[in-house]
Amino acid sequence: MSRFLNSRFQGIDAYTPGEQPKDMVYVKLNTNESPYPPSPEVIGAITAEEVKLLKLYPDPEAKILKEKIANLYGVTSKNVFVSNGSDDILNFAFMAFCGDGKVADFPDITYGFYKVFADLHNVKYNALPLKYDFTIDIEKYFNANGMVVIANPNAPTGIALTVDEVESIVANNKDNVVLIDEAYIDFGGESCYKLTEKYDNLLVVQTFSKSRSMAGARLGFAIASEGIIEDLEKIKYSTNPYNINRLTMVAGEAAIDSNEYYMDNCKKICETREYTTTELEKLGFEVIPSKANFVFAKHGAIDGEKIYEELKANGVLVRHFTAERICQYNRITIGTKEQMDIMLDKLKNIIRG
Ligand code: PMP
Repeated sequence: MSRFLNSRFQGIDAYTPGEQPKDMVYVKLNTNESPYPPSPEVIGAITAEEVKLLKLYPDPEAKILKEKIANLYGVTSKNVFVSNGSDDILNFAFMAFCGDGKVADFPDITYGFYKVFADLHNVKYNALPLKYDFTIDIEKYFNANGMVVIANPNAPTGIALTVDEVESIVANNKDNVVLIDEAYIDFGGESCYKLTEKYDNLLVVQTFSKSRSMAGARLGFAIASEGIIEDLEKIKYSTNPYNINRLTMVAGEAAIDSNEYYMDNCKKICETREYTTTELEKLGFEVIPSKANFVFAKHGAIDGEKIYEELKANGVLVRHFTAERICQYNRITIGTKEQMDIMLDKLKNIIRG
């Protein structure tokens, strides 16, 4: 830290992304990326012509992309916001809808970035404890004193709320924005985006990073009432109007055009998740039933950190968190069946000792 940093930021504990070590080739099951490549349409969209056009700024309104997303979800373009990854949208939301005495409420065990955004924007927050079984106690979020932020399915547990449960949180927070982070919704959960027609306080955030194999392109989108979208646009135009680069824009448009390809991949990932869950259980793991592209699992006899370390030493990366309530677990991204079989084989050896 230099002596120049504004004192407001000095105490911030920045987000730590999943590791990307380069010392060897790993089976990478630690950052919830898709094991499948982008669709042939997306690969075909990045032409030399498009690369030449990089000399020009991209469309700050992202008109075509927004229209395609709006058509896919049956809303209007005025209900759609797009940005440089869904983290960007979360950042804007903390900036836009907290402060003025409004706090943020989110679960104690959830996506670690919510706390960082709260700290970054000087927003007080309540980390509301999950129940003993890691489910969300929805009534704790009723009549909050500020923005409610819930990942659905939650990360790293993979447990999803139903649309009815989300609706009760939204209906009991008429004067607060309720942000539902649906980064993993395409893997078996039920999206609540249709509720945005009925509730002007609901902000649904999704990403192209997981189900649409575009983590490296950085593209996220949100669906909400026109008022909330206008607020996000205001923040965007006050920070970075050209928030989506040209190549990501054309890739995103082509990805929406090839939606079926991605939904087929999601189906495959769900099948592999069920296979992985069964095999892990056979090995003595307790696996939380997941609606995401990862499972959260702990072994009955072996320490969580030891499993993480030994898998890494054997060329398999998974994600381990040190927080007390979850330190016995590892979050394992669902890759291809072949990748999962490698991981399971390594685990068998580790368990045998
Ligand atoms: N929300 C959740 C719950 C996540 O796990 C992630 C991925 N780390 C994100 C949002 C951000 O995804 P991206 O910025 O790649 O869209």
